[in-house]
Amino acid sequence: MVRYVYEFAEGGREMAGLLGGKGANLAEMTRMGLPVPPGFTVTTEACRAFLATGSVPDGLDREISEHLSALERAAGRRLGEPGDPLLLSVRSGARFSMPGMMETILDVGLNDESVLGLAKVSGNERFAWDSYRRLVQMFGSTVMGVDGALFDEVMARLKERRGAADDLGLDAADLAELVEAYKELIRDRTGEYFPQSPAEQLRRAVLAVFQSWNGERARIYRRREHIPDDLGTAVTVQTMVFGNLGSDSGSGVAFTRDPATGRPGLYGDYLPNAQGEDVVAGIRNTVPLDELGRLDPESFARLRALMRTLETHYRDLCDIEFTIERGTLWMLQTRVGKRTAEAAFAIAGQLVEEGLISEDEALARVGGSGLARLMFPRFDTAAVGEALAHGIPASPGAAVGAVVFDSAEAVRRAAAGERVVLVRQETTPDDLPGMVAAQAVLTSRGGKTSHAAVVARGMGKVCVCGAEEIAVDPHGRRFTVGGTTVEEGTVISVDGSEGAVYPGAAPLVDSAVMRYFETGGRGEEPAGLVAAVARAMRQADGVRRLGVRANADTPEDAARARRFGAEGIGLCRTEHMFLGDRRQLVEAMILAGTDAAREQALDALLPLQRRDFVGILEAMDGLPVTIRLLDPPLHEFLPDRTELAVRLAAAEAQGSPPSAHDAELLDAVNRMHEENPMLGLRGVRLGLVAPGLVAMQVRAIAEAVVERKRAGGDPRAEIMVPLVDTVEELRIVREEVEQVLAEVADRSGVALSCPVGTMIELPRAALTAGRIAEEARFFSFGTNDLTQTTWGFSRDDVEAAFFSAYLDKGIFTVSPFETIDREGVGRLVEIAVAEGRAVRPDLKIGVCGEHGGDPESVHYFHAAGLDYVSCSPFRVPVARLEAGRAAL
Ligand code: ADP
Ligand code: MG
Ligand code: MG
Repeated sequence: MVRYVYEFAEGGREMAGLLGGKGANLAEMTRMGLPVPPGFTVTTEACRAFLATGSVPDGLDREISEHLSALERAAGRRLGEPGDPLLLSVRSGARFSMPGMMETILDVGLNDESVLGLAKVSGNERFAWDSYRRLVQMFGSTVMGVDGALFDEVMARLKERRGAADDLGLDAADLAELVEAYKELIRDRTGEYFPQSPAEQLRRAVLAVFQSWNGERARIYRRREHIPDDLGTAVTVQTMVFGNLGSDSGSGVAFTRDPATGRPGLYGDYLPNAQGEDVVAGIRNTVPLDELGRLDPESFARLRALMRTLETHYRDLCDIEFTIERGTLWMLQTRVGKRTAEAAFAIAGQLVEEGLISEDEALARVGGSGLARLMFPRFDTAAVGEALAHGIPASPGAAVGAVVFDSAEAVRRAAAGERVVLVRQETTPDDLPGMVAAQAVLTSRGGKTSHAAVVARGMGKVCVCGAEEIAVDPHGRRFTVGGTTVEEGTVISVDGSEGAVYPGAAPLVDSAVMRYFETGGRGEEPAGLVAAVARAMRQADGVRRLGVRANADTPEDAARARRFGAEGIGLCRTEHMFLGDRRQLVEAMILAGTDAAREQALDALLPLQRRDFVGILEAMDGLPVTIRLLDPPLHEFLPDRTELAVRLAAAEAQGSPPSAHDAELLDAVNRMHEENPMLGLRGVRLGLVAPGLVAMQVRAIAEAVVERKRAGGDPRAEIMVPLVDTVEELRIVREEVEQVLAEVADRSGVALSCPVGTMIELPRAALTAGRIAEEARFFSFGTNDLTQTTWGFSRDDVEAAFFSAYLDKGIFTVSPFETIDREGVGRLVEIAVAEGRAVRPDLKIGVCGEHGGDPESVHYFHAAGLDYVSCSPFRVPVARLEAGRAAL
């Protein structure tokens, strides 16, 4: 028999999959003996069943009513009982936290009768009507689908008539009037009455929370965070406690450490005489948590003690939501809190020092994408000039973009390729698409726990909030600050680390973490954040099994990669060595009519290539350098066909004789044109049909090795053949390579050994890897091409054409070009690894596609038993860190 409902006391934090994060952690706190209002949780399984079939799964109603009865017995009150009503909150909560993305309904159980009972037993009429108007408003918008803004307008009109600055300026009679107006609004919009039956309210609220899983914001958020669409949300039903009972009551949110910087110490916002949603909604200005210490020292002390208990128990930064009801503290939520990349590293380091976690655990809690963010440039504080405004640094980083004032405009401009900064008085969940599209979010209201701050931090977006000097005028599409007006489209710079806003595009400098890597860790003694990063890197390097190399084509890149910790080059492309001034020589080679002419062109290219190789081998002295023979089709080195034709036509129109060279080039371009160059004459195929090309490149490599050896170096060149389909191709090329190596060794008297290996980037190569390993000393998976050819996707075409539709439809949650497709491409990788190693046990296997620097993919390559990953120099620290985490 499936069970759909669990009482708090029956659950625990390990049950987040079934009870959602919120339900599981409420259960955990209950078990720890913390003051949690009693309740129960409906499982995500019930939600999945409901969403799949559209009807309430068998037995759920019965289970809910049994648990409700138990709750009522314990409370000695019944749901919605007219004289003394038990009230409930109905709360969403998925396995992965999706703050504010789904729905929660408070004060369920109130109706025209019980509101009077509540007024009487509480002795507070205003409170009773305030709670009722909240229920009608939340139920009306969430369950009955009335646009929430309409309720706000009704309230705004009433406030204006009463001359009230905020909701506290409305008295009991006003609130009763508001309830009537809300009910009318609902009837007007839906043709239905606000339901008076508490049981019906509860049932419909539960279903509405189920449905909120598929709400638009929830879907957008999941897509961005790569959360699967089929998990569903749990529903927690909980006894209400009241923060809106007067000035000795209130609601707040708090963090055990600063989630933006990681600095230790309690952090949060408190709002007296309010229910929870008010704190993050920015309805009234919150006060810093310290202020609670003065308002209610006893509750504050209690809160501090409980937070310490939680942090020690979870051994991590926790955030909590709490309510104080007439001097009694209640815990309403906790979770291991989201934090910025900076805070993640800082806190992990602190917790190790405090003896709460091990170095390995600390490493598990930081990540490559966060590290990459810390390597982004910062504004040059010495050169930025005067700030336009200051606010609260809510989510660090430097962002530059054109100012926009609503979500739709942000989305529109970003889709057109523009960088934008979303400026709002405060954000609401409806702003989510715009926040996703923007480089940064700037608000004039709200603290570090406001919606803007929480969501931006979760997404790693730059955010400055509560910049109170700014007056935002969304209708006029401008903001003013001091005497300055900033119109939509104006470029500004937002410094989320300092909480400052600058006009124009402020100058950038390397971040401290970047400077640390740039000096190869040998710069100034690391402190603070840099020390925390250094510590994590040390741990990662100590535990990782995967080697990390870089893709680098120039001595400068090779040197940088080495400073960043690369243990060699996994992919040195030779194509750029054919560009620039050398194009002419390449053209001459392609156009050569005779062997002599071709040799002459090749001979001219050789010393130039040799010089490049010498520089790279020197920068990577003592470490392997895998050089790939020329890969792209030769016509890529010729001028564009249209351009040539136009040039010739122009000459003709002017009556001047067409250039013979251009005519010859056009002829060659036409001859070499391919319908589908990606699958055409390239890679090893080129080496097999273009005479002398392989020999020239190998000679350049071999002579570079000789030169480095003579200079006392330790060059370790490896030669890699691209786009091999069958062992025969590799055999022929390898023989040619060996022959040239032998020749150069002979002539120079210097012994040469350059292992020859191959890329595995075509399905056929992976499927026949056992054969290919007979000829290859190493494999390197070219996962870009392997993904293209396995899926039959032309990357340049598909990404713009239909990938976003595929992501929307959930065909994949992430592009297979970003994160390796384990199921398909991964299967080929596994076959190739197994069959290759069976034939040649000491076969070296690496990967050199862009996946080599993608955190998730690195974990996969570790599990697949590869020897190393190779990625762009800037991703090397990311790959080292993730390779370490993969080995934990
Ligand atoms: P979210 O996931 O969006 O944070 P929650 O379910 O946490 O939604 O509810 C939002 C707020 O509603 C909470 O922060 C809390 O202050 C208030 N709330 C929820 N349940 C109760 C309750 N049982 N008593 C009082 N307030 C509650
Ligand atoms: Mg919450
Ligand atoms: Mg390739």
